[in-house]
Amino acid sequence: MAEPGPPAAPATTGSFAALRHLLPALPAGKLALVGSLMVLVSLTEGFGLFLLVPVIGAVGGGALPDGIRRMIAATGLPMALAPLLALCVGLVLVRAVLQYVRTVEGQKLAYGLVDNLRLRCFRLILHADWRTLAAMRQSDNASLLITNIDRIDMALHTLIAAVAAGVTLGGLGLAALAISPVMALATALGGALVLFAYRGLRRRAVRLGEALSEANDTVYARVLESLGALRLIKSLSGEARAARALSADFAGLRRAQLAYTRSYARGQVVLQGLGAGVLALAAWLAIVRLGVAPPVLLPMAAVFARAVPLLGTLQENWQYWLHGLPAVSDVARLAARLEEGAEAALPAGGAAPRFEQAIELSGVTLRHAQRDSDALTGANLTIPAGAIIALTGPSGAGKSTLADIVGGLVSPDDGRVMVDGVALDAAGRRAWRSRVAYVQQEPVLFHATLRENLAWACPEADDTAMRAALSVASASFALDLPDGLDTVVGDRGARLSGGERQRIALARALITRPALLILDEATSALDTENEAAIADAVTRLRGQVTVVIIGHRGLLSGIADRLVVLERGRIVSDSGTSPPAASS
Ligand code: ADP
Repeated sequence: MAEPGPPAAPATTGSFAALRHLLPALPAGKLALVGSLMVLVSLTEGFGLFLLVPVIGAVGGGALPDGIRRMIAATGLPMALAPLLALCVGLVLVRAVLQYVRTVEGQKLAYGLVDNLRLRCFRLILHADWRTLAAMRQSDNASLLITNIDRIDMALHTLIAAVAAGVTLGGLGLAALAISPVMALATALGGALVLFAYRGLRRRAVRLGEALSEANDTVYARVLESLGALRLIKSLSGEARAARALSADFAGLRRAQLAYTRSYARGQVVLQGLGAGVLALAAWLAIVRLGVAPPVLLPMAAVFARAVPLLGTLQENWQYWLHGLPAVSDVARLAARLEEGAEAALPAGGAAPRFEQAIELSGVTLRHAQRDSDALTGANLTIPAGAIIALTGPSGAGKSTLADIVGGLVSPDDGRVMVDGVALDAAGRRAWRSRVAYVQQEPVLFHATLRENLAWACPEADDTAMRAALSVASASFALDLPDGLDTVVGDRGARLSGGERQRIALARALITRPALLILDEATSALDTENEAAIADAVTRLRGQVTVVIIGHRGLLSGIADRLVVLERGRIVSDSGTSPPAASS
């Protein structure tokens, strides 16, 4: 089926919008704990540096200015060297422990958030309606679940690091203010100017992040597509071409990543230069102009020596957070699209229609988005319980669409679908689907044992039920395999032939004891022998299960009671020879 392209990406959200999207998933108590720990760590660090003033005073590095002397006296600190040093060591230890708790709790918070987000997105995909899913590129969803959410994980860590650096700078600022207000204000102004000068780089980080999102999606789509087309690639000797295409996509990805690395590294070079300049200016002011005494000058130097790299850390992590923001917007955009296309919940305790009389379609019309013509127009059809009906017609005539509507996978845009006289609403449709089994042209088997594959459809089925289903589905060969039901079928059933896979898929469909079985081109890819085996199986079901067969005329549709022909979305003929509906 053709897919419309992805919608144009809206502009990347800003930091606040991104946080609004992410933060509600965080437990408020934990968030407050991590925030308080950050502040405590920074305060202990600032206070530790402030302590250097009396320490240097105590070793006779010069007289303390009056203001500072009064401030220290007010704190009740001893002015002797040994207790001051002991206090410094104590503070370092307290800070180290607080920092440990903050690191672990911060990490737990980020992991919790990211895991929640991943699970939420996966659930949204699982619960979106079929029309929404069919219009999406699934590699985008894979990229969303893995790469984008990993990027958000990284971005969150950098955000935490940026906030921690900012808060620590605040603590150092307080210490600097206490030691020398003039120098503190002058250098804070310098620091703020440096950060301001970097706004261009930060904007660029967002743009480069958007380019990275696109490059990631391209690589994902290529990998998934190539792995799904290995047979085709090999049969067309396209190995080198496939490798070249992936290599080109990777080159694009690396270009996007390197562009960011360059921009970020350039920023660091300039930052170090500017930081050194601001510091030199502050030192010159302090020594030459203000004649600041050593007990003040030295602790200030310690504060600045710590503050300049922190400014670098703040800028670096802030920039990285912004670089990761497009991943948040991508996730938010896809999540919104999936939420919009969410299916109604399965009604609690609401039983599915029994289907003892008939399914009736009246005036059913469906049009896919971005298509000019209807996939199905004004279809009227009654399927009596127990009938075997074949839908035929050229490719694109609307057969699968009709079967999807009958099977409750999609809802029509117009018209009504009734089962046993009750119209299917959204919830009823979901319940009805549990009574319908599908076998499609390319059967989906999981890389697991036969038993696990059958149990996937019906977890409570025991070996007897599995043997019975295999027997009805002309698939008893499975019991003769070396490991019987414990045989592992390989990736997508690769260790079985196409016909064997299809018969196992039929057994899996039957083990659920469906009321309606839909065979969508189920034998189109099979040889006559396998088609005959499946036709035999369906013949055995006559009268017990209602069967809708989609396909070109052949052995399988030959066993139908009734032939319905579609062309360009319309039912153009209906042999209508099915037996009357069984009464309940
Ligand atoms: P058939 O089963 O008879 O081959 P379908 O029911 O699959 O036909 O398709 C009917 C029409 O709807 C075709 O024109 C097809 O291209 C279109 N169509 C089917 N699925 C989609 C989709 N997901 N998005 C857009 N158009 C679709």
